[in-house]
Amino acid sequence: LGKRINRAIRLMSDATVIDEAVVKEMLNEIAKALLEADVNIKYVAQLKNRVLNRVKFEELAAGVNKRKMIQGAVVDELCALLDSGRDPVPLKKGKPNVIMFVGLQGNGKTTSCVKYAHYHQRKGWKTALVCADTFRAGAFDQLKQNATKARIPFYGSYTETDPVKLAIEGVNRFKLDKFELIIVDTSGRHKQEKALFEEMEQMSEAVNPNDVIFVMDSSIGQAAEDQAKAFRSSVSVGSVIVTKLDGHAKGGGALSAVSGTGSPITFIGIGEHMTDFEPFNTQSFVGRLLGLGDISGLMNMINEADIDKDVYERIAEGHFTLRDMRDQFENIGKLGPLSSVMTMLPHMQNLLPAGKGKEGEERVKQFMVIMDSMTDAELDNPKIQFTTEREMRVARGAGVFPTDVRMLLKQHKEFAGVVEKMGSMKGLKNGNMNMLGKEL
Ligand code: GDP
Ligand code: MG
Repeated sequence: LGKRINRAIRLMSDATVIDEAVVKEMLNEIAKALLEADVNIKYVAQLKNRVLNRVKFEELAAGVNKRKMIQGAVVDELCALLDSGRDPVPLKKGKPNVIMFVGLQGNGKTTSCVKYAHYHQRKGWKTALVCADTFRAGAFDQLKQNATKARIPFYGSYTETDPVKLAIEGVNRFKLDKFELIIVDTSGRHKQEKALFEEMEQMSEAVNPNDVIFVMDSSIGQAAEDQAKAFRSSVSVGSVIVTKLDGHAKGGGALSAVSGTGSPITFIGIGEHMTDFEPFNTQSFVGRLLGLGDISGLMNMINEADIDKDVYERIAEGHFTLRDMRDQFENIGKLGPLSSVMTMLPHMQNLLPAGKGKEGEERVKQFMVIMDSMTDAELDNPKIQFTTEREMRVARGAGVFPTDVRMLLKQHKEFAGVVEKMGSMKGLKNGNMNMLGKEL
């Protein structure tokens, strides 16, 4: 989807004259791509009209960069398509926050509960899980297994058959122990049926949750709208987690449909593993979709991971030494699976031959070994020339070929160039995606 939209934008950019016909052609291409991702036709039409309305051809003076202006409008409207217009319920540190997860069976509730707990626990929240699913056989075992793996305290029972009773017991116990985030996993059903909604209402009344998170499988595309509405009308859904966005063609349809119902999407599931889980932010998402790079997301991650602020400052100033790159790789490795971090930076993707997965990770590991064989001066002083002898010495030390060293240097240069450009863009420190959109 992102690639096709990007191609449409580029086609427009390459046109010698940019007039209404060219912009319309671009919008038609974008519309086709969105419809194929199962985005509702009414949202697609809206996006087209809004972009056209924003671009006033007569008023565009000769000197104004039409191309960038139109690109910016497209980026903004794609963001609007995914924005619910509502803020998620804030969590209160130091207090017990009860979060109830709801959704149909198989949509990823239990998996997302544990991912959500793991995510917050890593950020310092005292977190616990309550299994109130008595409907699905083996539900408690599943939660227990995952919670144990993530080292998260849990509560549940093999014998109790009343889910509401279980939920109350679990929540009360963790409240006594001063847990800050008490996550209640509930049972789903195969369909939206009366029994499910009744159970959810009772549960909600009993545990009085601070937030109800609706978990939804993205593969149903725009049909998500009806489902989200049905759940919202039964319990007060405060936010949504959209799962299985890895490898589903209809993701765009699901995301826009959910946002359309006015519930903010707070996280997305992008795989079966604990760390295949990300906070959802419309601007970051659109940026990544279009390959603009998720600079704001990366900056957030850098802040969250407590990465040396000097590096951050230097990035913002546009200086980037080999040691900075080494530190980045090292810290990025701590943030989760490298492949998912890499997708945040399109230039990092180019940096890795295979782009994704294991091969990319191996490449980065090799880079680390190579950089470990460099002297302090080589790492810190960008003016040092890497002569053939120097390359040979480093290669020997790292047990690699000199071509590997050259590849690393080439990629540092490219990366430093990108960083330089980032640093020179004002407003970037605040993660202003619009800037980037217009810099395309
Ligand atoms: P529940 O019935 O709603 O609790 O759903 P589960 O958490 O048991 O998940 C159902 C299936 O979906 C399991 O096999 C999960 O591993 C899988 N699953 C959950 N989230 C994701 C995701 O983001 N991506 C992928 N690929 N699979 C997921
Ligand atoms: Mg479950």
